[in-house]
Amino acid sequence: MREDNQNLFRKIPGVDRLLDSHPLSDALSRFPRSVALRAVHRVLEDLRREIRNGSLRDEAALELEAVSARALHTLEEIARPSLQSVINATGVVVHTNLGRSILPERVLARFGPLAGAYSNLEYDLDEGRRGSRYTHVEAILRELTGAEDAMVVNNNAAAVLLCLDTLAGGGEVVVSRGQLVEIGGSFRIPEVMRKSGARMVEVGTTNKTHLRDYEEVIGPETALLLKVHTSNFHVVGFTQEVSGADLAALGRRHGIPVMEDLGSGCFVDFSRYGLLREPTVQEVLDQGVDLVTFSGDKLLGGPQAGIILGRKDLVEAVKKNQLARPLRIDKLTLIGLEETLRIYRDEETAIREIPTLRMLLQDRRSLLRKARRLRRLIGDLDTRNFTVTLTDTSSKVGGGALPLLDLPSRAVCLSPGRLTSAFMEQRLRSHDPPVITRVEKEQVLMDVRTIQDRELKVAARAVRKLAAYRPEGA
Ligand SMILES: *Cc1c(COP(=O)(O)O)cnc(C)c1O
Repeated sequence: MREDNQNLFRKIPGVDRLLDSHPLSDALSRFPRSVALRAVHRVLEDLRREIRNGSLRDEAALELEAVSARALHTLEEIARPSLQSVINATGVVVHTNLGRSILPERVLARFGPLAGAYSNLEYDLDEGRRGSRYTHVEAILRELTGAEDAMVVNNNAAAVLLCLDTLAGGGEVVVSRGQLVEIGGSFRIPEVMRKSGARMVEVGTTNKTHLRDYEEVIGPETALLLKVHTSNFHVVGFTQEVSGADLAALGRRHGIPVMEDLGSGCFVDFSRYGLLREPTVQEVLDQGVDLVTFSGDKLLGGPQAGIILGRKDLVEAVKKNQLARPLRIDKLTLIGLEETLRIYRDEETAIREIPTLRMLLQDRRSLLRKARRLRRLIGDLDTRNFTVTLTDTSSKVGGGALPLLDLPSRAVCLSPGRLTSAFMEQRLRSHDPPVITRVEKEQVLMDVRTIQDRELKVAARAVRKLAAYRPEGA
């Protein structure tokens, strides 16, 4: 046994021979030499380990061309970017793990010219001196929402932290027990409050909070009344929340600012298009709330950003906070945000061009059509691996928005034959590009709502490859 191993070890090709051998040598010009060397060393180490543990016994695996091919494969793997595009066939529109919102074409077209050149990011072209990056979206945000002033930061979590720190650092913030939410990851209202240095005063109960609950705790230390949108859950049954309007009036009577964390803010009234009603940002501001915060990449469908709107004196104080710098919005984001906001100037255009809105408001006819088209592109399959049908399903908004809303949709459904649903899901996920699906009741569902038209062919190809897969021993 040991002698066999010695024999195998001697057969392992050397580094220099490998670098000169086909097919690795032909590919070397495409990669930095250091990366090629790393790939070769990794493969040689793997081979030695496989010989030692007995999993490699066949000399053929050690032939120059075989090892060279393996090294090339490893090299391509190492050199490939980690971030890659995937096809979202889950039906979850604002899919946090898959990048939340996909950006409109018109936004993409702005990145090249603006990020590849110097710009007036913080330069006042009229005055020829230093300007502020926030000016680029202030006017359009005011125009779209009627807010007095606006400020943008890295994301909504940062917006909430910054506002709490500015308005209430050291003071008391009154918030309903029904709104102490946790948003995916690690964003929890009580903890953000602690980080900001504000002291949280909880009022009401989980299901019911009345205006008098707020009123009773207001005292000299009260710095802010906070309302948090319970975006990702719903309390149903015997419930009561205080409206933004009532809370705003209470705040005004006591001279205390009122802030609402909207989570997913939207400019479009979805109920006009047959979806559930969500108050728009404009409506919340009209209720008299002093400050609202929301995300740029949830229902708004733009880049990751936190948007702060409201009373001029408060927004100005927020801008002066020392934390504004560490939380500030990046140049690329600002480019994307400005262009997304410009699209909102015309609601019809917004619904047509902003993919998040387009996907949410797709009508049944176009979903049926898209599903039939995907089925046609998959074509006739001669396989025992699975069977393909079309089925009704329901999509979700995602991103912690409108949790109760089921959007009726249509899916291509793969029912197990020789392959299990778990195996099919995994194979589609490791396809290039990956196709991310949903498994329900042992079936793999490809919800067409979140598959873009240009992706249908590739999605169909992934299914055809799965049909052609031969299980071992079959
Ligand atoms: C999503 C959400 C946040 C966090 O926003 P990000 O943009 O993810 O940072 C904060 N508050 C509420 C209510 C949310 O729904």
